[in-house]
Amino acid sequence: MEMTKWFDTNYHYIVPELERGQRFRMASAKPANEYREAKAAGIDATTVLIGPLTFLLLAKTRGAAFDRLSLLDALLPVYGDVLESLAAAGATWVQLDEPCLALDRSDAERAAYRRAYQVLASRAGKLRLLVATYFAGLGENVDTALGLPVHGLHVDLVRAPHQLDRLLAKWPKGRVLSAGVIDGRNVWRADLAKARALLDRAAKTVGKDQLWVAPSCSLLHTPLDLDLETKLDPELKGWLAFAKQKLQEVMALAKGDRAAVEASSRAAQSRATSRRIHNAAVQRRAASVTEKDRVRGAAFEVRRQSQLELPRYPTTTIGSFPQTSEVRAARRKLNDNQLSAGEYEQFIEAQIGRTIKLQEEIGLDVLVHGEFERNDMVEYFGEQLAGFAFTEHGWVQSYGTRYVKPPIIFGDVSRPGAMTVRWSKYAQSLTERPVKGMLTGPVTILQWSFVRDDQPRAETAKQIALAIRDEVIDLEAAGIRVIQIDEPALREGLPLRRGEWAGYLQWAVDAFRLATAGVRDGTQIHTHMCYSEFNDVLRVIERMDADVISIENARSGSELLQGLEQYKYPNEIGPGVYDIHSPRVPSTAEIAGALKSMTRVLDDAQIWVNPDCGLKTRGWEETLAALKNMVAAAKAMRENGAPPR
Ligand code: GLN
Ligand code: ZN
Repeated sequence: MEMTKWFDTNYHYIVPELERGQRFRMASAKPANEYREAKAAGIDATTVLIGPLTFLLLAKTRGAAFDRLSLLDALLPVYGDVLESLAAAGATWVQLDEPCLALDRSDAERAAYRRAYQVLASRAGKLRLLVATYFAGLGENVDTALGLPVHGLHVDLVRAPHQLDRLLAKWPKGRVLSAGVIDGRNVWRADLAKARALLDRAAKTVGKDQLWVAPSCSLLHTPLDLDLETKLDPELKGWLAFAKQKLQEVMALAKGDRAAVEASSRAAQSRATSRRIHNAAVQRRAASVTEKDRVRGAAFEVRRQSQLELPRYPTTTIGSFPQTSEVRAARRKLNDNQLSAGEYEQFIEAQIGRTIKLQEEIGLDVLVHGEFERNDMVEYFGEQLAGFAFTEHGWVQSYGTRYVKPPIIFGDVSRPGAMTVRWSKYAQSLTERPVKGMLTGPVTILQWSFVRDDQPRAETAKQIALAIRDEVIDLEAAGIRVIQIDEPALREGLPLRRGEWAGYLQWAVDAFRLATAGVRDGTQIHTHMCYSEFNDVLRVIERMDADVISIENARSGSELLQGLEQYKYPNEIGPGVYDIHSPRVPSTAEIAGALKSMTRVLDDAQIWVNPDCGLKTRGWEETLAALKNMVAAAKAMRENGAPPR
């Protein structure tokens, strides 16, 4: 099954697949067993289950098209059984997570919510049910949410504080309000006085006994414990709160701890005025940006003439080559002072040299240096930019046992010096073929970091874009003729509510254009995106005006091709010809087949040949074998009548 991001977080879940007539049964006693285990330890825990509607709405349907809501009647009895098993175990509260109730919903879906919770209420016995929404406000679903026959409702008052008044206006007497006032999606210490004010307002209507204090959402999306951080300087540390500290904030609010409230206001004050955050030069530069800074000199067809001359079906890769344990060990040794900076650089140069040679042997047209110097595509840049901080233990779960450690953007962003030029220049010095410079784009850097909550995301994106723009121009000046700015996170940054998409896409695409438009016509700008579901943003990609875009395609079947059938993409494009998430080596015939299917929707002069994504998680052996087949497939396509460009 497919793995995808949980709403707009970096946490992934396995997408359930449903077919017409799908049947469900209770296959595990896990909820009741775990409730009992907690109880034996002296805790009357609240069991948290994904709600039935969110489960159906997030699933993927398979086979002949059908209405997923038609499966509700088959699903609800199983939920009923689970509730009964919890009631029998002596549980008090069960929380049903329904984040989908805080998104755009149709009338039919709202009706399904009402129907589903009637059924669940009838099966709950003495259990008390809490419906939890988060990540967005209830919006036009307020009445539906308040009409559900449940004992409590959790709402996100950090992302959507304005919904409080609408809720209070109609609050049913006796209903518990779980007020999510502490931000579960970010690392900043709360201003408890502000949270207190929301709670006071709510208490007047809801009643003190019916009012719960809570984080806005699960604490899965924040790191565990700030106390573990020994290297952050005290000033910055004083502005932060991780999961444990957030629970302390919840407790301080619940207990009405005055001293804690005052201390948090002092911290907020110190952050707002700190010189470490505010850089007047950066702010002036950002304020003076105009549309002209975001537009390339000439239109695509014109500037294409002065760019690289390449054969038809040019071949390239997405940037990284295998990050072997040897490469990671070298970086560890550098950090542990077992390797000097000079020795480490020599090591990286040797990796680059070998990789350039291998790419020449394979016959690729546009080469890359391999990204061996990078631990991670965001951290590497963050470490070299002003305004970023790094934690030692700030891990958050991505999926399974995989965790990521996002940087913290705490202040105005600028670039003290060149970040990648040294490596790209070295790689280019080794070969006659063009070497592609490789950068991470502003939206992705923003999206995969903890961001400031004291200015709009758009403003931070603009500052990062200006820093990347400087790097792009430095790469060009160093003789790099192709520069790729990766934006794999552009799509996942889409707001949860469609009504907010246009505004986001405007500033996100503007940030990309600002980062890239400073180059001469002859410099070819590439971008790369992955993680499928491009059809949502296909038209937007055109406005980015990259000369070439490479896109994940292999995993999502023919969805992209279908999208391109209905819409003619004007610039050049490389839909990934094989899936890099698997060690399987695709045959030449298979890759040529993928290319042929692309010619149905694209001109062959538009098509680039490349894998789906970077190769850093792959081994060398399969990588070389797959790339050889890829180049052979491109050659076969050229020979089949496509004239040279
Ligand atoms: N250039 C990056 C790489 O090849 C792109 C990674 C990504 O798209 N996530 O690793
Ligand atoms: Zn990718």
